[in-house]
Amino acid sequence: MRMFLNTRRSFSTTRKVASFAKWYRGLWRSKPANEPPYDHITQVGDPVLRLKATPVPLDAITSPEVKFLVQRMVDVMRKYDGVGLAAPQIGISLRVLVMGFDEKSKKEYTESERKIKGMKTLPLTVLINPEMKIKNYDKICFPEACMSVRGYSAEVTRYAEVSLTGFDETGVSRQLTLEGWNARIAQHEMDHLNGIVYTDVMNPKTFTCTCWEAVNRHHGRVRISFHQK
Ligand SMILES: [Zn+2]
Repeated sequence: MRMFLNTRRSFSTTRKVASFAKWYRGLWRSKPANEPPYDHITQVGDPVLRLKATPVPLDAITSPEVKFLVQRMVDVMRKYDGVGLAAPQIGISLRVLVMGFDEKSKKEYTESERKIKGMKTLPLTVLINPEMKIKNYDKICFPEACMSVRGYSAEVTRYAEVSLTGFDETGVSRQLTLEGWNARIAQHEMDHLNGIVYTDVMNPKTFTCTCWEAVNRHHGRVRISFHQK
């Protein structure tokens, strides 16, 4: 009985020492320093992609914080060769989006594909607190993808023409009308600001792993990377 007590006492003491050591080590160990706005893209499952994003207060539109956010969004969109990005995709639940369909994006498609999909150049566009109205209720269905659902695509039906209002990064009020592919980009990004991911509105039977053929060709040795240099 005595021996048992001794064992208990020594076990308890050992545990205290171990927890003290853990606490002490914790004082010195560097914390994982990765806070939003990220320089990578959040992936579906991240709660930030399911929130209804908050409007930027009017007196904060030209603040250094929003300026930093917009610049980070543009950098990340370009780094990942995207054509649109919403702030929740870098971890910030604010109503900010950036879009742009440049010559480099155009070159990823054949001329006939560009024509069929109504792809036209869209200069870099920043919209803070955007509002969208449907201008043409004709519905167009094409495959689209999302950098927050990396490695997949699916057909999504979108309206043919929309108009957008909002503020640019200098606080100037903007209004633009977009049709075809650019209208699709805008609808996709507006959905992000409302916590909607394209997989919510896709035709589920068309959901496709974009590298499924490569998976077969390379005996399954294919990796989807979430990092882009
Ligand atoms: Zn997306």
